[in-house]
Amino acid sequence: MTAYTVSMEHIPGLLEKWAGELDVHVPEQDPDGFYNFIAWTPETEIAWDYDLAYNSLKRFFLPPKEDTLSFDMETMRAEPVVDAPKQLLFGVHPYDLRAINQLDQLLEMGEPDVNYLARRQNTVIFALEPSRVAPTSFWASMGYDRVDLGYDLYWTRISPSSFYVEVGSTAGEELLLAAGALPQATGMEREAAKRERLRVRARSIKQGGLKYPWQETPRLLDKSWESPIWRNNSKYCLSCGSCVTVCPTCYCFDVREEVDVDLKKGKRFREWDGCMLPSFALVAGDHNFREHAMERYRHRYFRKGKYIYDKIGELGCVGCGRCVRACTSRIANPKAVYNELWEATYDEA
Ligand code: SF4
Ligand code: SF4
Repeated sequence: MTAYTVSMEHIPGLLEKWAGELDVHVPEQDPDGFYNFIAWTPETEIAWDYDLAYNSLKRFFLPPKEDTLSFDMETMRAEPVVDAPKQLLFGVHPYDLRAINQLDQLLEMGEPDVNYLARRQNTVIFALEPSRVAPTSFWASMGYDRVDLGYDLYWTRISPSSFYVEVGSTAGEELLLAAGALPQATGMEREAAKRERLRVRARSIKQGGLKYPWQETPRLLDKSWESPIWRNNSKYCLSCGSCVTVCPTCYCFDVREEVDVDLKKGKRFREWDGCMLPSFALVAGDHNFREHAMERYRHRYFRKGKYIYDKIGELGCVGCGRCVRACTSRIANPKAVYNELWEATYDEA
């Protein structure tokens, strides 16, 4: 594995170079204290120690709303619309990259999602080892503290002024060396990076997570369809959809068409949808196959803990903790719900 040492002082020059070729997005702290990925400018102060970005990164691949087709009813022609800017996401934490890797698999299955895949193809990802753990996060207990693929470079801060940078792709290495040669990392620097990873992982574990091995979750859910927990918790659900909107692994969307007022041209577009919204499962004839909040609430946990697992062998929750923060009713916490189910199923058996 090739790795370099990069000094903090080199980074502004590199960012200038990268921004000449790509739309560069980095984590920043906003005036209210929240972290978010924004377009980099020379004035941006990068939040190297951010714990969690409040918006997930799926929006860079699957925007909240996008055109997918334009049509002309006079010529009877339709053209696909694919808008895939060349972009660089710098500072992606491992659990968020695992979420992106999941979307890569899921959106390639069946009929591949050409818009998503074109954006992914045009995106360079520089992962960043977190130095802090958000109070709502529980990613280590879900098995998402490490990522082995999907990044072009992997940055670990090993001192206040330097990073250990592992190369994940040729494109990443070329960008890293765009402003000139850099020293290869030493064995001691590699060890320092490893220690930093273990330190952060230990902190995530210490903070608390699942009380059982995450691999047991699908089996746990198999026994939990009739659990009273679904009804008890969902009594407080506002059906607002915040939990699915912020989730980095939720990817449902609705497709619609719009025709211009002169009825000559039109477009097809898609926009985010979410299984917690009452209209999600509403179909023709006013039938709703998940009419009650309890059914929607249960579905979300089955989706994260079983249905995605059945497709790709991983849980559909990476433990980022965004939904925990976003839910004003305090009922959207997968860690708490799965632990509650575990206790009800096994501890009291
Ligand atoms: S379910 Fe919640 S904690 Fe899990 S990945 Fe989605 S937003 Fe993050
Ligand atoms: S679980 Fe919470 S965030 Fe999700 S829809 Fe219900 S109230 Fe909204």
